Amino acid sequence: MNPTDIAIAPRPPVNDTMALEIAGALFGISGPIRELGSSQDRNFRIDTPSGARVLKIANRSWGRASLEAQNAAMLHVAGKDPGLHAPVPFAAPDGQLIREWPLGEDRLLVRLLSYVDGRPLTGIRYLAPEVISDLGHVAGRTCTALADFDHPGLERTVQWDLRQAEAVIARLNASVRSAERRRKVMKACEEASRRLQALKTALPLQAIHGDATDDNVVGPRDAAGRVRPDGVIDFGDLTRSWRVGELAITCSSILHHRPEAPFEILHAVRAFHQHAPLSETEVAAFWPLMVLRGGVLVVSGEHQARLDPDNPSVLEPIENEWRLFEVAASVPFALAEAALREALGFGPDAEHQRMRQTLAGCAPLFPEVSRYESLDLSANSPLLHAGVWQQPQAEARLLAKAAVRSGAAVTRYGECRFTRTTALSERAPDNIALGITLRVPTGSSAQMPLDAHVVRVDERQLVLSCAAGRLYLSGLAHDLSPGDVVKRGQIFGSSTEAALHVQLCLNDTLEPPRFGSVENSAAWAALCPDPSYLLGGRFAAEFPDGGALLARRKAAFAEVQVHYYRQPMQIERGWKQYLVDTAARSYLDMVNNVAAIGHGHPRLADAIQQQLLTLNTNSRFHYAVVAEFSERLAALAPTGLDTVLLVNSGSEAVDLALRMAQTVTGRMDIVAVREAYHGWTLLSDAVTTSVADNPNALGTRPAWIHLAAAPNSYRGRYRGAEAAAGYASEFRALIDDLATHGKAPAAFIAEPVFGNAGGVLLPNGYLAAAYAAVRAHGGLCIADEVQVGYGRLGHHWWAHELHGVTPDMITVAKAMGNGYPLGAVITTRAIAEAFAVQGSLFSSAGGSPASCVAGMTVLDVLRDENLQANAAIVGDYLLAEFRELQSRYPLIGAVHGMGLYQGIELVRDHHSLEPATAECFAISERLRELGIIIQPTGERNNVLKIKPPMCLSLEDAEYFVWQFERVLSEGW
Ligand code: PMP
Repeated sequence: MNPTDIAIAPRPPVNDTMALEIAGALFGISGPIRELGSSQDRNFRIDTPSGARVLKIANRSWGRASLEAQNAAMLHVAGKDPGLHAPVPFAAPDGQLIREWPLGEDRLLVRLLSYVDGRPLTGIRYLAPEVISDLGHVAGRTCTALADFDHPGLERTVQWDLRQAEAVIARLNASVRSAERRRKVMKACEEASRRLQALKTALPLQAIHGDATDDNVVGPRDAAGRVRPDGVIDFGDLTRSWRVGELAITCSSILHHRPEAPFEILHAVRAFHQHAPLSETEVAAFWPLMVLRGGVLVVSGEHQARLDPDNPSVLEPIENEWRLFEVAASVPFALAEAALREALGFGPDAEHQRMRQTLAGCAPLFPEVSRYESLDLSANSPLLHAGVWQQPQAEARLLAKAAVRSGAAVTRYGECRFTRTTALSERAPDNIALGITLRVPTGSSAQMPLDAHVVRVDERQLVLSCAAGRLYLSGLAHDLSPGDVVKRGQIFGSSTEAALHVQLCLNDTLEPPRFGSVENSAAWAALCPDPSYLLGGRFAAEFPDGGALLARRKAAFAEVQVHYYRQPMQIERGWKQYLVDTAARSYLDMVNNVAAIGHGHPRLADAIQQQLLTLNTNSRFHYAVVAEFSERLAALAPTGLDTVLLVNSGSEAVDLALRMAQTVTGRMDIVAVREAYHGWTLLSDAVTTSVADNPNALGTRPAWIHLAAAPNSYRGRYRGAEAAAGYASEFRALIDDLATHGKAPAAFIAEPVFGNAGGVLLPNGYLAAAYAAVRAHGGLCIADEVQVGYGRLGHHWWAHELHGVTPDMITVAKAMGNGYPLGAVITTRAIAEAFAVQGSLFSSAGGSPASCVAGMTVLDVLRDENLQANAAIVGDYLLAEFRELQSRYPLIGAVHGMGLYQGIELVRDHHSLEPATAECFAISERLRELGIIIQPTGERNNVLKIKPPMCLSLEDAEYFVWQFERVLSEGW
C-alpha cells in the first residue's frame, strides 16, 4: 500500500449527541460529554460516575488489526511501566475491546479508553529545560516499555512512519502552496535522505509510539505552574519503525517552542538516552530524521488542509510545523551530530581522532617566528577594564600592541571573548573562538604545515584540504590557485600588514563560523580542533569548570553563606550595570544595590589605589580625609544630625546605633518591626525578624526585643487607606504597654521603606506616629537607611524624608562604599557625646584613609554622574511600566517602592494573596536565560526585587520590562 493513500479520509461525521448514543449503546456509559481535538479520529471525553473515559471513534482508514495492536500495546505499556501514565482500553459489557457502529455504508470502530489526567504542552510557548527533559523521559520510557512488544497489527504502512518519509514527501510535496517552500522541503529532505541511506540497515527496529510529541504527552502542573509531562496518550500512530525515530519525533515537536535555541532538545535527548541508550548509528541518523519528520509534517499538513479545510486541528498547527521544519533544516547535519555525540559523551569518532592526531606532525606555519605572546581577551582580562571591552576594534588594537611589544602575538583558541559580548542580549553571544588570530612581522614566510591542496581562494581566505581537514587561512599574501598542491614545509606565501586568521575544520561540508556560542560551542569545538598547533605552540583557553569550582566553594566556604541560583553561573567581571560570567556573557544586574555607582568604576578603583599607595592607617591618626568625609556625610543628613561614627558594614552600623541608644538612655529594651533584616552581629541580628532569612527568628529573639507588626498595607492586618491609622494605634498601644511594665524602649529601629519586604512603602503617617510614640516615652528613633537611603529612591536622598520625620540616628552602609566595606552612624552631637561614657570607640578600618577616600569618591560620582536624578527618571519609568503590566497580568499582585528600589509582588490569587513563590523563582531562572539577574525577596520569596546599580539606563529598564513581559506571556 502506498503510505499516502491512507490517513486521508475525513474524520467520522459524529457529533456529541451521536457519540453519547454510541457510548450508551455499545459500552453502557453516559455522562457529560466534550469533544477532544484530533486530526483523524473523533475523540470524546465522557465523565461517567466511575471516572472520565475517552470514547474513540476511529477514522475509517484504520483497519481493525491496527486498533487491536494499539489496545494490546497500551496494555503492554501499563504492565511494563505502571508509573508511566498512559491510557488503557475498557471492555464493553460483551467483553469486546472494539465495538462496531453502523453509519451509512460504513461500520465505525469504537473503543473506550481511560482518560489520562494532565495537560499537554500544546499552546505553551516556552518550554523550560526541565520540561524538555520530561518529554525525553516520557518518550524514552514509552519506547523502552514497547521494546519487546509485538503484534500482527504492527505490520501496516503509516504515513508518519519515518521509514516512509521520503515517499510521503515526494508524493505530497506538490500540495505545498508556495513554490519556494516546496523547493526548500525537497532540498533539505534530499540531503537528509542521502545521509540516512548508509545508516538505515543498522538502525534498530521495534514497536514505537510514533507520536510522543508536545501534543500527546501530558502531565500535571508543578508548583511554579509549569506542565510537567509524566504520561503519554494517543497510540494512533503505533507502528514498527526505527527506534531513534521515536526520539526524533519527540524532539522535532520541541523545535517550534524554542526556535532560537534548537539544541535545547539535547535535554530530551539525554533523558531518552538514560532509558534507551542510543548507538552511534542512531546518533548519526537523528538529525536527518528530524528534518524528514519536519518535511512529512509540512507536506501532510498542507495536503490534509486541502482535503479537510474546515478542521481546525489540521489548520492551526501548520505554521508551527513550518517553523519546526525551518529550524530543523537550518542546523547543519554534521554540527547536530557533533552536538549529540558531545551531549551523550561519545567523544570524537575514529576518523576525527585520526585527523586530530596528524596535527602533531605538522610543520610550523611561520618558521621564523619562535615566540608568540598570547593575548587574554577573557572576562578576567586586565586589558579589558574600564569599558575597553565595548570599544570598537578593541581586539585588533590589543593584538597589534602585543605584537609590537613581543614581536608576535596570538589570540587563544576556545576563549570566551569578552570583547564579543553585547550588553542586553537575550541569548548568549557568538563569542567562543573556534580559530586563532595572530600578528607576526610583516613579510614573515609562511610554510605549509601538512601536505595540502588548494580548495578555494577568495578575497577573504585561502581554503586548503589536508589530512587534518580543511584549513582556513586569511591575511596572507600568496599566489596559489584552486587545485594547486603544496607539500609540507613548502614556503607558499608571507604575512601581510593585516592580522591573520587560522582555523581548522574536520568536516568538509561545513563552512565553520569563526565563533560559536555557549549553546553550540562544544559541537563546533569537536569539529574545529585547536589550530594553534600549526604555530608550534598551544594557545588555547580552558573552558572554566564552574561545577568543580562550586564543589570547592562548598568544601571550603561555609554553606550557610548561601549563593544565588541552584546552578550559579560563575561571575568574574562587573561593568556598570552589567555582570559577566566566565563564558563572557553579560547580564543586566537588577539586584546589586551595593554597587550603587556601578561595577568596576575606574574612578573609585583609581582613588582607592592612589590612597593605598599613599597612606592607609586608622583613625587614631590625624589625617585630612576622615574629617572631610565626616563633614560631607553630616552635610547630607538632616539638621541636627551633625556627628558621624565610621565602621565597616551595615551590621556594624546598626549594632553601634543600638548600643549607643541603650547606653544613652540607660535602657535595654528595643522595638523592631516584623519581617525585617538589619544585620548579622549579635545586636543587629537581635532586631532581625525575617523568617525568610531565619525560619526560627520569631521564636528566638531576646526577651528585651519587642516586635511591632510589619506595616504592610498590601497584605498586612490593616490595608489600604486605613492602614496607617491601624498600625499606628497598634504601635502606640505596644509602646504604652511596654512603658507601663517598666520597659520603655531605648530605641525603635525600622527601615523607612521596607526594603527587606521588597520595597514596600510604609503607610503615610505611620512612621511619624511611631516616632512620636517612642519619643513620648524617652526612646530614640533609628532609621536604617542601609538599603534604601543614599539617593536610590530618586526623589529623596534619605527614605525617611518620605515621611517628614527626623530620626535620632541614621545607619548607612552598602552604597556608601560601592562594595568597599564602609558603614556609618550619623547622629546628634549630644547622643555621640553621651555614648562616650562607655570609653572610646575604635574600628581598625572604619574611617581609614582608604575607606574615607572610597566614600568620598562614591559621593563625587553620585553627584557628577547625576545618579540620584537618574534613579528618579528610570524609577518613574519602571513604576509606570510595572503598573501597566499589573493591569494586564493577574500574577502581579502589587508593585512596591520607588526610584531604583522596587518590588513586583507575585500572587496566585488577588483575594487570598497566596504568594506565587515557586513562580517567582522560576521567572528569575527564565530571566537569567534572557540575560537578566533578578532574585525573589520578601518574607514569602514572592517579590521580584528591583534594586540595580543607580546607573541603570532607560534602555536597560526598557529591556527589562520587555523581557519580563515576554516571560509573563510566554510562560516560564
Ligand atoms: N540593614 C539593612 C536594612 C540591610 O538590608 C542590611 C544588609 N542587607 C544590613 C543592615 C546589614 O548590612 P551589611 O550586610 O553591610 O552588614
